Amino acid sequence: MKLVMVGTGYVGLVSGACFAEFGFETVCVDKDQNHIEKIKKGICPFFEPGINDLLVKHYQKTKLLSFTTSLSEAMQNADIVFITVGTPSRRIEDEADLTAVWDVSHEIAKNIKSYCVIATKSTVPVGTTKKIKKIIESKISSENFDVVSNPEFLREGSAINDFMRPDRVVIGTESEKSEKLMRELYRPLMLNETPIVSTTIETSEVIKYASNSFLATKISFINQVADLCEAVDANVQDVAKGMGIDKRIGSKFLHAGPGFGGSCFPKDVKAFAATAKKFNIDFSILEAVKSFNENRPQVIVKKILDTKKIDTNSNVALLGLSFKPNTDDIRDSTSLKIAAILQKHNIKINCYDPVAMDNARKHNKTLNFFDSVYDACEGVNAIIIGTCLLYTSPSPRDRG
Ligand code: NAD
Repeated sequence: MKLVMVGTGYVGLVSGACFAEFGFETVCVDKDQNHIEKIKKGICPFFEPGINDLLVKHYQKTKLLSFTTSLSEAMQNADIVFITVGTPSRRIEDEADLTAVWDVSHEIAKNIKSYCVIATKSTVPVGTTKKIKKIIESKISSENFDVVSNPEFLREGSAINDFMRPDRVVIGTESEKSEKLMRELYRPLMLNETPIVSTTIETSEVIKYASNSFLATKISFINQVADLCEAVDANVQDVAKGMGIDKRIGSKFLHAGPGFGGSCFPKDVKAFAATAKKFNIDFSILEAVKSFNENRPQVIVKKILDTKKIDTNSNVALLGLSFKPNTDDIRDSTSLKIAAILQKHNIKINCYDPVAMDNARKHNKTLNFFDSVYDACEGVNAIIIGTCLLYTSPSPRDRG
């Protein structure tokens, strides 16, 4: 079976490398020439534990994995073409910006030569995959392709393990032929008895947004419980433990902190709420999650200032700059938001992160960057642990 990943970012590159590990010939395509050249030289454009070993194994040794900027070349004899481009928030409205999805759909339509499945792995609002079908149908007969929704649930920082040992695989199809092909693709996961959830395309699209929105809600819920605990002298960590032991609740995503960030939760909560609004559905829970989380960095800064231990012209160390540990992704990083608010109070920030310094430097040049935790903390008035550093140093190879 030959696979194509269109969009070679976190999801496209990791899933492409893992499909090669399953034994499939996989071509990763990206429109960004520099990005592709870098990967071909063995430099992974982002930090993800274990990815470099898979690239060496399947790009250099087995040759199952290849990279190109040419979609037409990649799509020759392809069986499944995955759309793995970004779906960020629009600048003004909360909806997902699907520009890249529509662009690649038109490109894919021009390059279908024989039957293949077009699968959306990007997180897309309900109805998108059927719209992709319409775009392709305007160029080519529907007998020559099927569309499928196959959302991705991997987490940055543990992406390879998540992909190779997922809790479930969701496949939304509308034909037996495409469902059979997708089940064949994920056959290697049957060894781990991974549940395959087969649904309609619309249901599959909703499962992804509902899952991320639910996890984000759990985080905001425990953060509100944390605020209450502070007011009544209770311990939120013990509360979370006492709640999480209950199997109906579960202990994951019950860690109080500065709020969620990253490339998925903030935009997915917004997009899911926007979908509800479009269909006149009351999803006020999500509106509350969104606004509470957006305000969280301000609340954290207020808590810091209320200690009266620091004021204007103080020096503060900020440890951890990415949106969570084990990644260099700083998209919507709460840590960097806290830094920016403190800077508005004329507080100087010394910072350190084991892998995200280069990205953070591009984002905010006015922070003081240090090469170690100890140097960053020297002589400061306070230390903020932005992302938990309970973490082993990456090998030089994993740094890319
Ligand atoms: P990303 O920004 O890291 O990568 C997207 C890639 O697509 C970029 O390299 C970009 O150059 C490329 N691209 C854009 N337009 C293109 C085009 N016309 N032709 C070819 N390539 C093009 O994004 P990501 O983090 O990998 O996310 C991709 C999708 O997967 C999003 O919808 C996201 O919500 C979803 N997702 C992400 C994660 C995650 O942890 N990052 C997890 C699950 C799902």
